[in-house]
Amino acid sequence: MIQFEQVSKVYPGGQKALLNVNFHLEQGEMAFLTGHSGAGKSTLLKLITVIERATAGKVSINGHDIAKVSRKHVPYLRRNIGMIFQNHNLLMDKTVFDNVALPLVIEGFSHGEIKKRVGAALDMVGLYGKERHSPVMLSGGEQQRVGIARAIVNKPPIILADEPTGNLDPKLSMDILRLFETFHDAGTTVLIATHDLGLIARMKYRTLTLRKGTMVGGETDEPLTPNM
Ligand code: ADP
Ligand code: ADP
Repeated sequence: MIQFEQVSKVYPGGQKALLNVNFHLEQGEMAFLTGHSGAGKSTLLKLITVIERATAGKVSINGHDIAKVSRKHVPYLRRNIGMIFQNHNLLMDKTVFDNVALPLVIEGFSHGEIKKRVGAALDMVGLYGKERHSPVMLSGGEQQRVGIARAIVNKPPIILADEPTGNLDPKLSMDILRLFETFHDAGTTVLIATHDLGLIARMKYRTLTLRKGTMVGGETDEPLTPNM
């Protein structure tokens, strides 16, 4: 589903972010991506979403070499990926409903279909009945759930999360991970970047570990304990 072959990324300023990274995530697999701040986690996710392009090597999504995806077609590729951020990136002057509906509005779904899908997404994350609320009125954990509902509302086959529990206490963090687990159980490929090793240790998933841009653990399908 997601394959990196000898992938390197050097930013225009000369900053080496990734060096000869190899790994393969199977369809439906759930995995963690860890490493210290600056190790290259965000860069790796940005290569998958084509926010950045690899300097060398090959990134394939669903068997497609994404270097061959033209700029015009990048939005179509991105529809297959639900992206979740630490800071939610919510529109605070819009309702919960409007925030979650946004990807469907952009795709041109009918009003009825949008209502149905937004309701289902909010139900899934445990926020049914909060459609008319402003995100401002919600707790940090609830705001994160709105961000997750928005990411999954068009049922993407891939979910990427960048420090999704960064601002949450351990109990809420675990709840969010359990939520990702339900998407994984439903067949979605899930990759979660986090430096919260305590959280990772409590779950059984493969952990890809980056150190200064090099993958130092988890490249194979054998579950490994992070080696920091
Ligand atoms: P992480 O997510 O693990 O903290 P990043 O992928 O954000 O790591 O960063 C990896 C390295 O690339 C760091 O040294 C960082 O400073 C550098 N970097 C990240 N983004 C850019 C950018 N847009 N331009 C130049 N250097 C960058
Ligand atoms: P944008 O439309 O924002 O320019 P692109 O994905 O086309 O987005 O490019 C993002 C960055 O990656 C730019 O700095 C661009 O020069 C660089 N870039 C684009 N394609 C490639 C490529 N095939 N190899 C290396 N760098 C690339």
